[in-house]
Amino acid sequence: MSKPVLVIGAGPVGLTMAIELARYGVPVRIIDKLPTRTTQSRALAIWPRTLELLQASGCVKAFVANGLHAKALRIHRGNKILARIPFKTISSYFNYLLMLPQSETEKLLEEHLKTLGCTVERETELTDFVDKGDSVSCTLTHKEGKGESLEASWLIGCDGAHSFVRSKLGMVFEGDTLPISFVLADVRVAGLSIPPDEPTIFWHHDGAVMLFPISRDRSRIIADIGSAPLHMPDLEEIQEIINQRGLGGLTLSDPVWLSDFEVNERKVREYRKGRIFLAGDAAHIHSPAGGQGMNMGMQDAFNLAWKLALVEQKKVKPFLLDSYSIERSAVAQKILSDSRRMTKVVLLKNHNLQRLRNFIVKFILSIPMVRHVIANRLSGVMLNYPDSPLNAGSTRKLYGLGSGRRLILKHHFQESNVPQFLLLTRDTPEARTMILRYPLLLKAEVYSPPHKNGIWLVRPDGYIAAIAQSGNWSVIDTFLSSIAANHEC
Ligand SMILES: Cc1cc2nc3c(=O)[nH]c(=O)nc-3n(C[C@H](O)[C@H](O)[C@H](O)COP(=O)(O)OP(=O)(O)OC[C@H]3O[C@@H](n4cnc5c(N)ncnc54)[C@H](O)[C@@H]3O)c2cc1C
Repeated sequence: MSKPVLVIGAGPVGLTMAIELARYGVPVRIIDKLPTRTTQSRALAIWPRTLELLQASGCVKAFVANGLHAKALRIHRGNKILARIPFKTISSYFNYLLMLPQSETEKLLEEHLKTLGCTVERETELTDFVDKGDSVSCTLTHKEGKGESLEASWLIGCDGAHSFVRSKLGMVFEGDTLPISFVLADVRVAGLSIPPDEPTIFWHHDGAVMLFPISRDRSRIIADIGSAPLHMPDLEEIQEIINQRGLGGLTLSDPVWLSDFEVNERKVREYRKGRIFLAGDAAHIHSPAGGQGMNMGMQDAFNLAWKLALVEQKKVKPFLLDSYSIERSAVAQKILSDSRRMTKVVLLKNHNLQRLRNFIVKFILSIPMVRHVIANRLSGVMLNYPDSPLNAGSTRKLYGLGSGRRLILKHHFQESNVPQFLLLTRDTPEARTMILRYPLLLKAEVYSPPHKNGIWLVRPDGYIAAIAQSGNWSVIDTFLSSIAANHEC
């Protein structure tokens, strides 16, 4: 029997990774050192791009049914609205922000994983590993200290911000901790005068308060406390902060989670060393402003799994895997700088600058196109791979769509458990010949193109791999033959 891929950590990223590998038929084991999954609500926001990928994975329905559909993001100064960014213009079938506690997200992912025949092995810790070049020798420690040696084909560290895999590889987690602390409470809120399903940032000259709906009767409050030392808040402290910041009409009660946190902005340079990969918080962490951390991590998993499956199934050459770190590291870099900028704007302390910010935000966000772009940017649908080494064909766009660009068409949502490329072009004998030449890499169907005079080759994760003018089949052929394992072409 072939060696399994070993996934370390059953947080949202490890679970997504195991699901994707399992549904592609790759033998996989997933372990977590903790006895149970988190009961904390932590990450609440699931953005449209993640929902699109969960749809391809076959489990989005349960998410959509269980989460709260937030329709807009609001920015207030006290009770006065400065801006409202609607999500309905997001260029996705999922044109809303799904609010779901991370505990629920993990539960739904774990249930889906079970349907694919894989269960999380809990109270099992990775305590050592050695990359032997053609496999990874892993030492696992089970409950009560019982050891196990395991030969894994690949090791994927989805083991969170304090990653053991990362530190054993000696990878530096470059970045900073911001000199600012936050307190957090998941509570019932009475006296809300804003729609209960619209996340809202309240600005006040003493600091910001953010209110995120969790369910119909429960919200998360986050407030910055400047450079005050980190400490566990109580409900009275948080009530006092919101009273001081002009939100005295709100009454908080029934806290289920009170916490504090500081903002770290860090990432590794490379997501891969030999047969070992990092994904999720193990590879990058940043400010929760924008709610992107978990989404980015889950999208790491979607990016890596199809490539690993094709390599494991010996359908492509192993160099395909090199694109994972390049593509995902560039995305993390972008999100890190976006969220750093957003955090700075939200937490401005100088009163004159705050006044200027409020004025600019009110003016700029009164322009519909600006609101549309911001909503799309937050949603993840604008994250593309323009500099991917996998991009083939013209570096220029063809009818507005270039290589590396996310392309979501209805048929991508049809679940498929075989990682294959889609050919979008007119159904011609040449197109059929191409499919016959690469039966393992190409889906047997020809799909209608965005424009009749072009050919678009779309990756299993919905990004354009290659573009060509109609008839210019050599571009597609050259790309496929460059990645195909030798027996394929
Ligand atoms: C207050 C707060 C709010 C947030 N809000 C958002 C949001 O709205 N949207 C968003 O996208 N993100 C948000 N985040 C970030 C989000 O929670 C993280 O990005 C996410 O949990 C990362 O998932 P992960 O699977 O990479 O790591 P984790 O969730 O940390 O999971 C890692 C797992 O690995 C296990 N593990 C570690 N070492 C080992 C080992 N040696 N052997 C076996 N198992 C091991 C751990 O037990 C753990 O279960 C928020 C975070 C916080 C704290």
